[in-house]
Amino acid sequence: MKLRKLATSVVVLALLAAAAAWVFRGPLSVMVAKRVVVGRLAADALNDLPDGLHIGLCGAGSPFPDDKRAGPCSVVVAGKRLFVFDAGGGTRNIGKMGFVQGRVEAIFLTHFHSDHIDGLGELLLQRWVSTSNTVPVPVYGPPGVEQVVAGIMQAYGQDQHYRVAHHGNATVTASGFGGVARPFQVGPEGHVVVLKDADLEIDAFLVDHAPIHPAVGYRIAYKGRSIVLSGDTKKSPAVQREATGVDLLVHEALSEPLVHILEDGAGQAGRPKLKKIFNDILNYHATPEQAAETARDAKVRYLLLNHIVPGLALPGMDQAFLGSAADIFKGPIRVGQDGDFISLPAGSTQIDVSRRF
Ligand SMILES: [Zn+2]
Ligand SMILES: [Zn+2]
Repeated sequence: MKLRKLATSVVVLALLAAAAAWVFRGPLSVMVAKRVVVGRLAADALNDLPDGLHIGLCGAGSPFPDDKRAGPCSVVVAGKRLFVFDAGGGTRNIGKMGFVQGRVEAIFLTHFHSDHIDGLGELLLQRWVSTSNTVPVPVYGPPGVEQVVAGIMQAYGQDQHYRVAHHGNATVTASGFGGVARPFQVGPEGHVVVLKDADLEIDAFLVDHAPIHPAVGYRIAYKGRSIVLSGDTKKSPAVQREATGVDLLVHEALSEPLVHILEDGAGQAGRPKLKKIFNDILNYHATPEQAAETARDAKVRYLLLNHIVPGLALPGMDQAFLGSAADIFKGPIRVGQDGDFISLPAGSTQIDVSRRF
């Protein structure tokens, strides 16, 4: 009897506490914000990571809406250096992952489809104002990157003036705004070294995303650890060649059965032109099974799928998306989502998978 009374009192107290928390949720949230804001603003993940090569998906998605996947964007950390590969809508997640946009040393673009550049303007702006950079950031890409950077600079030119007028040149120095295009040519062998110094090498290689040309992937090597980013491509021997023996292959992927559902749906909805577009996209991307074949044949150690097409709106769709990929590649495979983070510590063979939000 005593025990039952005690249990009833505990339940009543818990309900009262929950009710009070609900009633005062506004002031309570402000109290919590005051506690965490300094820590968040002082944080810089670059200072906390072990020496090595790391990659985080700021955007694991594609042009399709997907709650877990913003447009294409990857942060790459090599030692204490921070780079961004592709600048889709996911660039807004860079801060959420604990990185400071102002410390981005360079941006690398794979090609100029809108989903890969629609976050570039915001990234250039945030990189400028967040730490008062005084010089623009290099933006590497195949020929055509000059047009993209010039266009973004023009579109954001008015805001550049607004910011300086509002905060003052000492706070946001006008010269630090924006990017400088660094086009590179890929030779007939289909491969070029874009950046190389003591410990780090970043190479670009041509992939097959026809009719989009040029379109490239990247190979990043740092202190014995290595990552290949496929960029947008159908199954390509170039990706297999470049990925041979790497620790991590980050490969784009499109599920044909799921896209066929959209294609059929567009037909039934009386939208024949959209149906044609859904059909067209099948011919310049790779399926999860094809990415798995490349991973198997290149003997990579881990396969991370990104640029997920279409959006995976329902629970369980990750499994449907993978199809038979896990039967083809026997190593670990992950259907990427925003916040995924993979660390390759220097001087080891470890592959550590975590989430940053
Ligand atoms: Zn794309
Ligand atoms: Zn594309």
